[in-house]
Amino acid sequence: MLENLSDKLDVLFKKLRGQGVMSEENIKEALREVRLVLLEADVNFKVVKDFVERVRVRAVGTQVLQSLTPGQQVIKIVQEELVALMGGGEDNSLDLAAKPPVPIMMVGLQGAGKTTSCGKLARLLKGQRRRPLLVPADVYRPAAIEQLKTLGRQLSVEVFDSRADQDPVDICREALRYATLNGFDVVILDTAGRHQIDEYLMNELVRIKEAAEPREILFVADAMTGQEAVNVASGFNDRLDITGVVLTKLDGDAKGGAALSIRAVTGKPVKLVGVGEKLDALEVFHADRLVSRILG
Ligand code: GDP
Repeated sequence: MLENLSDKLDVLFKKLRGQGVMSEENIKEALREVRLVLLEADVNFKVVKDFVERVRVRAVGTQVLQSLTPGQQVIKIVQEELVALMGGGEDNSLDLAAKPPVPIMMVGLQGAGKTTSCGKLARLLKGQRRRPLLVPADVYRPAAIEQLKTLGRQLSVEVFDSRADQDPVDICREALRYATLNGFDVVILDTAGRHQIDEYLMNELVRIKEAAEPREILFVADAMTGQEAVNVASGFNDRLDITGVVLTKLDGDAKGGAALSIRAVTGKPVKLVGVGEKLDALEVFHADRLVSRILG
């Protein structure tokens, strides 16, 4: 069985007997395979279309290299373009260079992994000798407050004492005041999610943004999200101007094509990836690894 794109393209080019030469025709055939691979990885079809066109333009103008088969050469272009699209080589670390306490706002749909990612982030920051405060600001799902308190206990990280009858904007404001008075240097705001974007939620998130002036607004996205990743991500980005993405559940079967879609429509970097349910399962994002995963 042909495992990956590279094998498929090699066979394809042999079949086309176009060895040594990259013609428009065999590039077209190759790009059909590339397109399929990206669609199978759940990259948004519009994003795929634009991307494949970019690769085509580059491939057609490319001299055939002695050292590579035409298949390998197309792969190389695809890889380079994908890594560039994902911001490979860019600094995608969190920007915490501000007067403490630095607020980080976590947003996303319900079930994406927001609360878990708040805990993971607190653990990561604690490991960097920072003093994070976790703030439950999801008052619609009382279990969310409890969930964050439990995570805080496991991590020995303080959780701000919010109640479900409070206004989320007030919670965030008070938490920041509390953090200033008590020497916390990062404040992680766990906001409410919904199953889909709605106006009420967006207005609330905008009000929290205005009140807390977060240094980072991280959109938490489930790597399993398919074609709708584009709409959800642009919905959040249009209203909140997010600063980055946390891609969760990359330990599952998902190829992670959602990351490509989100990056392509928002232009915002994936900063962190979740690779498990445990609190230590958070990693810095590497564009080249994601690209290998998608093409592999
Ligand atoms: P929220 O509604 O966005 O706050 O989502 P939660 O943090 O409650 O997470 C929803 C579910 O996804 C929980 O069962 C988490 O354990 C799980 N989860 C979160 N992140 C990851 C991850 O990176 N990998 C896996 N396998 N599960 C995750």
